[in-house]
Parts: sequence; structure tokens; C-alpha cells
Amino acid sequence: MAQVAIQPGLFTAPPQPRLLAGQCDGCRERHFPTADFCPYCSHDAISICEVGATGTLYLHTVVNSAPPGYDGPVPYGFGLVDLPEGLRVVTRLVAPDLAELRSGLPVRLVVEPLYRDDDGNDVLSWAYGPATKARR
Ligand SMILES: [Zn+2]
Repeated sequence: MAQVAIQPGLFTAPPQPRLLAGQCDGCRERHFPTADFCPYCSHDAISICEVGATGTLYLHTVVNSAPPGYDGPVPYGFGLVDLPEGLRVVTRLVAPDLAELRSGLPVRLVVEPLYRDDDGNDVLSWAYGPATKARR
């Protein structure tokens, strides 16, 4: 069966996925997802850079009912992850036990099937999950 990205231009393929961020050629600030104009200075020359193999969970919540248009499993985590490249990204969060999510947790990027579309394709999306097993 085929695998398709939930949207082109967001991330690179497994097994070593990265997020595709925009970096402004003017002020050098990075943003994700990438935009045609820099959100900081409105410059229109944006380069694409690969970021976010790992990060640190900044804050999160747990979503227990599917929002409109979301076809993936629930519950899932949702929150903000700080990347070592200097970005803070909004992201879905996954963990064997969502109760292990906590601020400061080292996380790593995963790209995996989120749901199967009407054509039978596995639709890939990104999320962050614990980089190591949680200590008890
Ligand atoms: Zn800029």
C-alpha cells in the first residue's frame, strides 16, 4: 500500500525524519510550517532547512475527543516543543502512556501513519514522543 504525506512540504520521510522549517534570508529567524513571507520581518526570500530531530516538551494537554477534520486516534497529546534550532513548534504528541508527558521531557520526532484515506493510502503525519523511556 502507498504512504502519502498529510500535506507536502512539512517533513522528510522516515527513518530519520526532520521538520522542514523556513529560514528568512533577511533576519535569519526560522519558522514552521514554512511561509511565503517571514512572519518576523515580512521578507519574501525564505530558505528551507531541516530541523527538529529532537526537542524538549514545553507544555502539553491531552485531547480526548477528535476535533472536526481529524481522522486519527484519540486520545492524543497536543502541545509545544522547543527545538535546539531555536524554534517552538505546535505539534501532536504521542506516547505509550500519555501520563508520562511532562514539561522538560526530552522528545524525538516521529513520522508515522495517522489514518488510512478513502483510497487505502496510509496518511503520514508528524508527532513528538518521549526520546527515552520515562523514569518511574
Ligand atoms: Zn525575517
